[in-house]
Amino acid sequence: MRHIKELVPLLKKGNIVAFCGAGLSSESSIPTFRGKGGLWEKYNPEVFATLGGLLSLFIFSPKKVRDFIVEFYDILLSGKPNYAHYGLAELERKNLLLGVITQNIDDFHSQAGSTEVAELHGNAYKFWCLKCKIVVKKNREEFEKFIENLKSKQSRKEIIREILNFMGKCPGCRKRMRPYIIFFGQSLPQDELKKGYSYLDKAQTLLCIGTSGVVYPAAYLPYYSRRRGAKIININPESTPLDDIADWVIRETAVNFFKIILPILNETFFRHRRIRFRRKV
Ligand code: NAD
Ligand code: ZN
Repeated sequence: MRHIKELVPLLKKGNIVAFCGAGLSSESSIPTFRGKGGLWEKYNPEVFATLGGLLSLFIFSPKKVRDFIVEFYDILLSGKPNYAHYGLAELERKNLLLGVITQNIDDFHSQAGSTEVAELHGNAYKFWCLKCKIVVKKNREEFEKFIENLKSKQSRKEIIREILNFMGKCPGCRKRMRPYIIFFGQSLPQDELKKGYSYLDKAQTLLCIGTSGVVYPAAYLPYYSRRRGAKIININPESTPLDDIADWVIRETAVNFFKIILPILNETFFRHRRIRFRRKV
């Protein structure tokens, strides 16, 4: 492993794309699902992470679904973007980063100011119509109010009504909207996947951040990028299969990586701009 600072010349060349996983948000108080203390220790992913499992539970045991929704959004709403999310947004503003491809559903990239984001697994603040593919986003305040209301509902009927009302109906066809979350076994949203590949087609450097690289089909993307000749930088405190294709393995947390790299990039970026400015004058 070489020193992180040695990456600066490569990063300054730009055309960077970030491929992110749950580890990036673990420093935003959102535990990874499979990690220690993660949701899957308590909730069986075969039921709670599959559309079929959740739908049948919703019909036969809505209280269990309510408890899961409340716990999930309590965790999500208590977190906020961290230094690494803001760092990625800053790289985009500096025109060094083409886009972020994320497997996370927590919306932290947008909340940190990134505008080029491909959300491969959806977004927990969005709902969509499976027929028209219209996507509607609700804000944090709306979710906070919904979760508070849901906590107070006790009867089966009240719980079902509260959840269905909040999801709303499609503005196009009036069918019931569904959570815009890609469950296990579902295909990825085509528009987002296309956007992700369009970033990778121009990428010279791929930053893989906080991803185990074992959740497919998303995990194919770094291999695609590698075949196209991009340099791969894998940032993860643990070893993962992506180490095998990485040109650089950085055994650091996402936040530590950005705390080292960003001040140096900022310094060289502003020095460069100052020089250019002087030349113009
Ligand atoms: P994952 O497969 O994305 O793996 C998480 C990886 O992050 C691990 O390799 C771990 O070593 C690494 N990691 C942990 N802390 C880190 C840190 N501080 N900095 C950098 N890397 C760190 O995780 P998963 O939880 O099994 O997720 C599976 C899928 O579930 C994800 O792809 C995502 O779709 C979804 N998920 C989303 C969120 C979220 O939106 N925040 C959270 C959990 C899971
Ligand atoms: Zn519709």
